[in-house]
Amino acid sequence: MNDTAAAEYPRLALHVDGEWLHAGDRRVHRVINPATGETLGELPLATAADLDRALDAANRAYRVWRATPALERGAVLRKAARLLRERADVIARNATREEGKTLAETRIEVLGSANLFDFYAEEARRVYGRLLVRPPGARSMVVHEPVGPVAAFAPWNFPINNPARKLGAPIAAGCPVILKPAEEAPASAIAVVQALLDAGLPGGVCQLVFGVPDEVSRHLLASPVIRKLSFTGSTAVGKHLLKLAADTVKRTTMELGGHAPVIVFDDCDLEKTVETLALGKVRNAGQVCVSPTRFYVQEGIHDRFVALFAARIGGIRVGDGLDAASGMGPMANPRRTVAMEQFVGDAVAHGARLRTGGEAIGGQGFFWRPTVLSDVPMTARIMNEEPFGPVVVTAPFKGFDDVVEQANRLPYGLAAFAFTENGRRARLIADAVESGMVGINTVLLAAPDAPFGGVKESGHGSEDGPEGLHACLVTKTIHEV
Ligand code: NAD
Repeated sequence: MNDTAAAEYPRLALHVDGEWLHAGDRRVHRVINPATGETLGELPLATAADLDRALDAANRAYRVWRATPALERGAVLRKAARLLRERADVIARNATREEGKTLAETRIEVLGSANLFDFYAEEARRVYGRLLVRPPGARSMVVHEPVGPVAAFAPWNFPINNPARKLGAPIAAGCPVILKPAEEAPASAIAVVQALLDAGLPGGVCQLVFGVPDEVSRHLLASPVIRKLSFTGSTAVGKHLLKLAADTVKRTTMELGGHAPVIVFDDCDLEKTVETLALGKVRNAGQVCVSPTRFYVQEGIHDRFVALFAARIGGIRVGDGLDAASGMGPMANPRRTVAMEQFVGDAVAHGARLRTGGEAIGGQGFFWRPTVLSDVPMTARIMNEEPFGPVVVTAPFKGFDDVVEQANRLPYGLAAFAFTENGRRARLIADAVESGMVGINTVLLAAPDAPFGGVKESGHGSEDGPEGLHACLVTKTIHEV
């Protein structure tokens, strides 16, 4: 790392009750650059006393923030969006250092987060109620109020955008947030919080804690101060947190795992489909909950598709995300390369054919070659469990009903993709898949105005769009005669 880069990486801290808290006597977590293995910084971990202080501050801040006019809440978000754009270069570089994805990707994340804040700045003023039909002089009305303090847990895979998603809608709605982002990528979350504070957000409205995840979630979710849990992460952890939230009957938004089916019909535009899917698959080294993963390719084009796809994805240059020539960065942590090794070994043992990749790239960092496994039997682990990495599995299918059954076979229901030039087929498949989001001839599913979320064990509730704001509101009906 050169001197400028080193200087740009911030001193890591918690933000509690309007104060930045540094390590002191607290335990620390070492933050590692996954491309080089070097230590970037030491992150203080919250104590029980820090968490109690954060809860108390959130409770106090709630009274002030819910009474702050929506236009003022929106103005803070709009200013924070501008600051994020101004600071995009530094924020993106630090995110790439922490998480590994390419600089082009982290820049998009900063700009996407700014766009989300702008969207919620506007949406804050549209929390309309409803007047019910009643006799003259009587009124019954439905109003929406902020749900209250939110405990939000964000993972490392979108180090800027996940925190922004956890903050934008609740802040617009009038709710304070205690955010625990992943300990792996703290500087990115700190930058998002700093932009909000510099934009004038009261300190107690946006607090940031890091810690031992299980300790933090148990502590915060046991408190009656917290009225909502918002979690993004694995289905297993999500189920655990839902149980903790049940004791005090908290509102929940759960953004859990996925294992997206990709249905490639024989009437697709083959070259475009290969290109779209190859670039979509290597995005963040496949560590994306909506990553295209289980490729069902119609039997007439299966072999040709696999040959073209393996050649294209196998040729993508893997390297440090800071290097402009890299098309894919490292995996975010060594847990992921170990997981890839196990998934690939198991699939091959079950009879799958390795078409490209299938191994780590030696030396420093956690690099893994983009991998294609074809003819993977249904019994292989990777056909059933979310791989969360740059690995694609393919299997041929005969007809429409056959592929719908395969696509809907798993308990996941986050994203599904289909590639076809036949409009009627596109509509039929979009209706038939059990999934919160569907991409037809595209792998891009996230936009500020579009609800993002899953069904089945992929979770419930949406982030983004008006639905994301309504997830931070509760309903009150007032009757007057
Ligand atoms: P993990 O399941 O241990 O952790 C996932 C996330 O949940 C992390 O951010 C972690 O800090 C947090 N977490 C874990 N235990 C927690 C607890 N008790 N309380 C609060 N937060 C907790 O796995 P991992 O190795 O970090 O990530 C790999 C798996 O996580 C993947 O297989 C994938 O399924 C899932 N994941 C999903 C998303 C997503 O966008 N839905 C993002 C990142 C990871």
